[in-house]
Amino acid sequence: MFQHKTIQNQTIDLPLGKIVCVGRNYAAHAKELGNEVPKSPILFMKPATSAVPLEKPFSIPQDQGSVHHEVEIALLIKSEAKNISEDDAWSCISHVGVALDLTLRDLQDALKEKSQPWEMAKAFDGACPLSNWLPLEKIRDRNSIQIRLEKNSEMMQDGYSDQMITSIPKLVSYISQFFTLQPGDVILTGTPAGVGPLESGDIVKATLDACHEFSGKVL
Ligand code: ZN
Repeated sequence: MFQHKTIQNQTIDLPLGKIVCVGRNYAAHAKELGNEVPKSPILFMKPATSAVPLEKPFSIPQDQGSVHHEVEIALLIKSEAKNISEDDAWSCISHVGVALDLTLRDLQDALKEKSQPWEMAKAFDGACPLSNWLPLEKIRDRNSIQIRLEKNSEMMQDGYSDQMITSIPKLVSYISQFFTLQPGDVILTGTPAGVGPLESGDIVKATLDACHEFSGKVL
């Protein structure tokens, strides 16, 4: 079972709940996949069984086509929120981290073509490597949080939260209109451009807010 841990490796006493994700929240990423920029957030979920620690070697599906990395700023919910306002949205978040929204891209393309849900491509076991958590107070400017991903020492993705189409407070507020957020839930905030395939043996290094590094390895 996945346990929330801080970067000091202290266990956070909350079971992991649902992981609520947003698609196409950076215009450059929507464009690179040939998608339109959506008028309202595209929400989907990953179950708790999709989470694995990012900083331990993690496995990816074999023989199911390409598995893409999507590096994302992750938010840990500390208190219940339903219909929360944008102004209050940060008050239900305790920690910030990094997630890889692993995506079976070929399968997702096939599902999209048939207008079917994305779960098989997004919610499989191991589809959400999650870093250890950094307390929100450690983030220098929560309106402009940098997120980067290197693969085998090559910079693949580099973005800032102020490039999001729907900002973090707006996104949390919007999500809470549909899904009650509970302590231990996680929100993934979308991926900047530069997504691409992962292979066995790849080393990934995610950097949050320019100075917090989280490294992982694909088994
Ligand atoms: Zn994503």
